[in-house]
Parts: sequence; C-alpha cells; structure tokens
Amino acid sequence: MESPNDSEPLKPRDRVLWRLAAIGIPVEHLKRSYEGIVHFVITNGLSLPEVVSAILPTDEEVVECIKYAGICMSITMRNRFHESMVWLQWLMFLGEPSNALNNQAKSSIDQPRICGAVWRPKNIAYKCRTCENDPTCAICVPCFQNGDHKDHDYSIIYTGSGCCDCGDETAWKREGFCSKHKVLEKHDNLITLSHISNM
Ligand SMILES: [Zn+2]
Ligand SMILES: [Zn+2]
Ligand SMILES: [Zn+2]
Repeated sequence: MESPNDSEPLKPRDRVLWRLAAIGIPVEHLKRSYEGIVHFVITNGLSLPEVVSAILPTDEEVVECIKYAGICMSITMRNRFHESMVWLQWLMFLGEPSNALNNQAKSSIDQPRICGAVWRPKNIAYKCRTCENDPTCAICVPCFQNGDHKDHDYSIIYTGSGCCDCGDETAWKREGFCSKHKVLEKHDNLITLSHISNM
C-alpha cells in the first residue's frame, strides 16, 4: 500500500485501478476502466465482495477521514469516496449508471403500474377477500385470469361503476396482482448482482 507521505499521491481512479490489479484483474480489463471491470466480473464470475472491498477506501483511510471529519473532510478523501461510489454504481447496474437509470425510468413508463380498466354498469369483475385491502376493491376479468388466486376467497360481482385496482398496492395485495401489473422491483439489479457474486 502506498505510504501516506508520498509526495505525489495517486489519483483516486489510479488508486482503485492499482488495488484491482492487486486482486488479479488483468491489465487489458483495467485499461478499459469501468467497462472493463464490469465485463470482467460478468465473464469471470469474480467474487463481488472482493472487488467491492478493493474499490472502497481502506479501513485506515476511513479512520483517517473520521478523525478529521469534525473539522472538514479533506478534499482528497472526498474525491476518493466519490471515485469509489462511481465504481460501485457501475457494478450495481452492470454498465453505465446514467444509461441504466434512464432505461429503468423508460421501462416503468412503458409499463403502467395500475390497470385502471373502467367498468360500465353490469360489467363483470372479481373480488378476492384474500387479496383486497378493503371491501370496495375489485379487479377486472383479464387481471383475475392473469393472476394467481388459486385457493383464495374470491367471487364474481356485477359492477356499478369504478375501475380495476390491480397494481395498486394501497388497494390490493402484491401477490394478487396479475402478471402484467406486477412490475419489477427496483432492487432487481441487486438480485442480479448477488446472483453473479454467487457464481
Ligand atoms: Zn385490470
Ligand atoms: Zn392486472
Ligand atoms: Zn386473490
């Protein structure tokens, strides 16, 4: 590890690269910076905790930082933390973080969360006492058929008015959402990550 008295301290990104090299990531991946590491982690199933601990500041650095935090975190330390965070975001999204976030925002626009199908008088709908949060809730026929209400306490009703509650967590339990309105959880990226770290 570099000595704290180095007259010419490493730049934050070089520090991380240096540590990644120390845990055995080949130079050709390191040369491609963030992308190279994400690619290496995916293709080699390298243990993620090892990579993460190489990216994060060391315990000594954190202690050093806490010691001075009362006064003001040194700019060097702040830059090191910032650099670590950028690396972790790349690993978390397995790619460029702002792209991943944009794609996620787009996909949640493409896929409406709540069905909201509007009923006319005498339309058929389903109630499910197992899934509903209150007795005024109901879901439309397609949502019932695409959901899993096996062994639930459900019944068919003729609606007066209103709309389908499928996808609305304040009205209906998530387990009772149909496959179309059961949107991916935000932390699916993390599940992917832990899957990789278990490979
Ligand atoms: Zn519906
Ligand atoms: Zn639905
Ligand atoms: Zn149900």
